[in-house]
Amino acid sequence: MSERSAGTLNLIFLGPPGAGKGTQSRMVEEKYSIPQISTGDLMRKEISSGSSFGEEINGYIKLGGLVPDHIVISMLLHRLKGDDCKTGYILDGFPRTVEQAKSFGAALAEKGSFLSGVIAITVADEVLALRLGDRRVCKKCGATYHLFHNKPKLEGLCDNCGTELSRRRDDEPDVIANRIEVYHQQTAPLIEYYQNKNKLHIVDGNKKIDVIFQQICGIIDELS
Ligand code: ADP
Ligand code: ADP
Ligand code: ZN
Repeated sequence: MSERSAGTLNLIFLGPPGAGKGTQSRMVEEKYSIPQISTGDLMRKEISSGSSFGEEINGYIKLGGLVPDHIVISMLLHRLKGDDCKTGYILDGFPRTVEQAKSFGAALAEKGSFLSGVIAITVADEVLALRLGDRRVCKKCGATYHLFHNKPKLEGLCDNCGTELSRRRDDEPDVIANRIEVYHQQTAPLIEYYQNKNKLHIVDGNKKIDVIFQQICGIIDELS
């Protein structure tokens, strides 16, 4: 059975770009009251601060490649020191390489902490490209929408905060293609990695958002 104890719930959401990690992990955040932490969001925040470090990070993101492991790992471990992470967290988009997974596993072991489970969302490549091309995001609160499958109540405006929605700069066709390729080469091996550790739960991401969410909640409830 699971290693969840004393109410902690440490989850990883794994999947290609556009699989629905952000959408689902934010719904889990709300239901289970644990923070959703997206390494992509952490890095976009650094980029928008205008720092030279942010500029360096942007160099990788705009081409659709991965940001070097040591940068992402140190940003994530710093974030996990936050008080809000004491009862658990949902990692969205981390780890993305076996190296990141190993470093993270070592950092957890050092703290006497552990992973509750890894939820891998699967979606075919052709569908991913369509999802990302029509994705719209709120730069203020991070909410994600889709022009056809997940529309905001008022066209072009965020349901939560009313901010005008925008398109992410890396959601352009050639960059999308590269991100999907990078996923297959560098991130997909994590499926086997976590399967071997008996942590993996696979979810069919082709279904409707609410149906997937129910399935994910069923998995999480089994972990407790
Ligand atoms: P998506 O949700 O579409 O998969 P993210 O917001 O998670 O996108 O990531 C956007 C970009 O940020 C990635 O293409 C990559 O350049 C960078 N990035 C995010 N997380 C990581 C990570 N764990 N390791 C390396 N690069 C990352
Ligand atoms: P990721 O974080 O894995 O890159 P997102 O959660 O941002 O993925 O979802 C990518 C796009 O697909 C968004 O526009 C989102 O609204 C939409 N989307 C998410 N889940 C589904 C789904 N099950 N069916 C159709 N569209 C979806
Ligand atoms: Zn918003």
